Formats: sequence, C-alpha cells, structure tokens
Amino acid sequence: MTEAARVSKRPRIVVLGGGFAGIGAARKLKDADVDIVVIDKHDYHTFQPLLYQVATDLLETSAVGHALRDLFNEQANARVHQTTVTGIDLDKREVQLADMALPLTYDYLVLGLGAEVNFFAVEGAAEHAFPLYTLPDAVRLKEHILERWESADKDETLVEDGAVNVVVVGGGPTGVESAGAVAELYRSLFVKDYPDIPQEKARIVLVEAGPQIFAMFKKKLRKYARKALEKRGVEVQTGEIVESVTPMRVTLKSGAVIPAHTLIWGAGLQANALVKSLGIELEKGNRIPVEPDLSIAGHPEVFAVGDIGWITDIKEGKVLPQLGSVALETGKHAGENIARLIEGNDTKPFEYLDKGTMATIGRGAAVIQMPRGRTMTGKSAALAWGSVHLALLSTGEDRAKAMVDWTWSGFSHERSARITVRTDDT
Ligand SMILES: Cc1cc2nc3c(=O)[nH]c(=O)nc-3n(C[C@H](O)[C@H](O)[C@H](O)COP(=O)(O)OP(=O)(O)OC[C@H]3O[C@@H](n4cnc5c(N)ncnc54)[C@H](O)[C@@H]3O)c2cc1C
Repeated sequence: MTEAARVSKRPRIVVLGGGFAGIGAARKLKDADVDIVVIDKHDYHTFQPLLYQVATDLLETSAVGHALRDLFNEQANARVHQTTVTGIDLDKREVQLADMALPLTYDYLVLGLGAEVNFFAVEGAAEHAFPLYTLPDAVRLKEHILERWESADKDETLVEDGAVNVVVVGGGPTGVESAGAVAELYRSLFVKDYPDIPQEKARIVLVEAGPQIFAMFKKKLRKYARKALEKRGVEVQTGEIVESVTPMRVTLKSGAVIPAHTLIWGAGLQANALVKSLGIELEKGNRIPVEPDLSIAGHPEVFAVGDIGWITDIKEGKVLPQLGSVALETGKHAGENIARLIEGNDTKPFEYLDKGTMATIGRGAAVIQMPRGRTMTGKSAALAWGSVHLALLSTGEDRAKAMVDWTWSGFSHERSARITVRTDDT
C-alpha cells in the first residue's frame, strides 16, 4: 500500500476475501467516495461450484480461477493486495497481514474469508483425503487420479489393490456432483483411454452418514438423483460413516473396508479459522452470528458475509445455507449498507431472494427445487443449472471459456484438460 493511500482522508473499506461475498461488497461500492482495499491470499477469485469439473478434467483452471486484479481494473476506488490475513483486532480496527510490516486500519470492514474443510477429526482424513474447496485441491485431485490410472495401467495388481477406486464422502451437492463427475470421466473417457483396465473393476462409492443423499431436496428428487448415480455405476451407501482413512483403504464404522487409493471429502465445512480469535461467541460450524443488517453485534462498522456468516433469513426465520448466491447477495447488501452509513443513513435489513436449489449428477442429469416447491429433473434442469452457473461466473470471458469446454465435451465426450504438466519436468 502506498503512503498516499495510507494518509487518504476518504473512508477506508477493507474487504477480506475475494470470493463471491467480498467481490459483491467491493463492486457495490464502485461509485462511493471511498478507498477500498480487497485482500486475498490468492491473486485470483475461485469459482468453487465448478471445482469438481477441474478435478475431473472437464474445465481448465483458468475457467474457474479469475485474476482478482482484472475484476477491479475498471474500478478506480479499489485496490487489490495478495497477502494472507493473520489477525483482526476489532477494537483497534486493524487487520494484520502476513507480509506487511504495519497493520492495515479501516473505517469499515467486510469479513468475507469463507469457510474451510472440516474433517470432523476422522482418523487419517486430514493427511490422506482429498478435499475440494480450492483450485489447488482440484488440481491435486485431478493429478492424483490420472497418476493412479497411469500406474494401474502398467501394473494390474494395483487395480485389485483399489488404485482406481474412488470413495466420495458426503451425500450433499459437493459429494453427489463429484461422484457423478468421476463416473462420467471413468465411464465415457477412461473406458477408451485405458482399454486394459476393466471398468467394472473401477469402483466409485458414495458414502453418506444419513439415511439418504440430497437430504435438502424433496423425496422425488432424492430418488431421481440416486437412480441417476447408480445408472452411471456409482455405488451409493447410505447410513455409513467413515471411521478412518489410509492412503489405500477406507474403513467404515460398520467394519467394511473399501480398497481405494482416493477418498474425496465432501462432507463438511467450518468457517475460516481466523474467526476464533475475534472474541465473538460463534454459532455452529464457527460461523459468525450477524444482526439483520449483516453487521456484527457491537460493531456496526463490521459486516460478516457469505460462508463465514450465520445469517438468518428474516422472511422464513431459517439460517441461510453456505451458497454462492447467498454470498454474492449478502456481500452486495453489506456494500450497500456501508454506502448508506457513509451518507448518514440507517442500514437496511437483509432479505434473501431465493432462486432455488440445484445440483447436477452428470451429463443431462440435474435436479432443481424452486422456492414455491416446483421441481425439475433431467435435461431441462441440467440446462437451467448451466445457465445459472454461467451467470454467476465473474466475466463474459469466463462464461465463454466454460461454454466452449462444456459444448466441446457435450458433443465429443472429450475433455481438453486431460494432461498433467509438471513444473519439475524437463
Ligand atoms: C465443491 C463446491 C461446490 C459448490 N457448489 C455450489 C453450487 O453449485 N451452487 C452454489 O450456490 N454454491 C456452491 N458452493 C458454495 C459456494 O461456492 C460458496 O458458498 C461461496 O463460494 C462462498 O463465498 P465466500 O465469498 O463466502 O467465500 P469463498 O468463496 O470461500 O472466498 C473466501 C476468500 O477468502 C480468501 N481467504 C481465506 N482465508 C484467507 C486469509 N487468511 N487471508 C487472505 N485471504 C483468505 C480465499 O482465498 C477466498 O478467495 C460450492 C462450494 C464448493 C466447495
């Protein structure tokens, strides 16, 4: 940060996190007479809903990660800094950053640091499971799956040992979408890439602790999703809990042991660990409880938005789920409230505009549950899912990239991203 920026007389808005929530807040303030500083440990915004498509070679990383600086090029009052937030002092109104000697002071703070994976202390999970929350997570998983197939292709005993088996934990959208995408990758592509590895020996097992997958959806959508997964060769095991994980085995509480060299963790989240140092009483999953206007009690100048917040829908009285649409809407609302405060007006309570819940299971298979109870399945739902996710992408360029990859894969059943490039290669 330059000296001129440090001594500016305009109110300084510090936005922590360049996810949907942080971007929503910063962009909403684009015409305000303020200085905005957006801080993120990455120099890109991650479009999490499509991470599983990077992990399964459907999309290039550049379709899912977008340069943060590029998003604010046209916004004269905003600056972006790539650095890690190491501490927040709400009383002093200061943020500590990993590679800046002085703390950054603020007049208004937007907390949009998101959530992180929760392994629920399952033995071996932190060391051996593959979470799917960041772009490096997705690339790691993709490279691991490709490497296991390459190795098994050279040594058939590895197939028997479970090298190409995948266990996915969690029957929510992340787990179901990941299991469906792995099935598409295996059954439509690897079947041709690796003709010597019999597909029936490549197991994909979805494990869910509860009695059903997609618990948040209506019964007929749950049944549809299960059938669509099974049609794609996914074994769905409900009422099962993962007890421990090693690099080659997944042990369930029932005593069953699944030989699998890959365990995808889609089972749980908790708010960013930094929240524990704020001195606030936290809600379930360490989420920060907020006032109706999204500010933190006792700190009207601090707003917690997106996955980090425990945000209650004022119409329904229910806590809102950790979704991209909630993050974007709450971020924008916090930006609007900050502008109102600067202009001397009262803040407004947040009202969520529910556009429905949706998820894909594979090519041409998706489920949608609209706010008033209407439902959709199949190709029409998959098309609607595609348009909603395209609309959420940050720029026209991102949308075009995803469109090209999806269209190519839809027509050809091919995937452009199916290579491994290592920087330590010659
Ligand atoms: C696999 C997956 C699939 C999903 N599918 C869907 C879907 O289909 N539809 C949907 O609506 N939602 C979906 N979601 C949820 C949605 O992506 C999240 O709700 C949304 O991204 C939350 O936005 P956010 O801005 O609160 O947090 P994030 O997007 O997580 O952004 C937080 C930002 O903070 C940065 N950060 C974190 N810690 C630090 C630090 N210490 N210092 C500096 N920067 C830091 C991170 O780099 C990140 O950029 C999915 C999520 C996942 C993981």
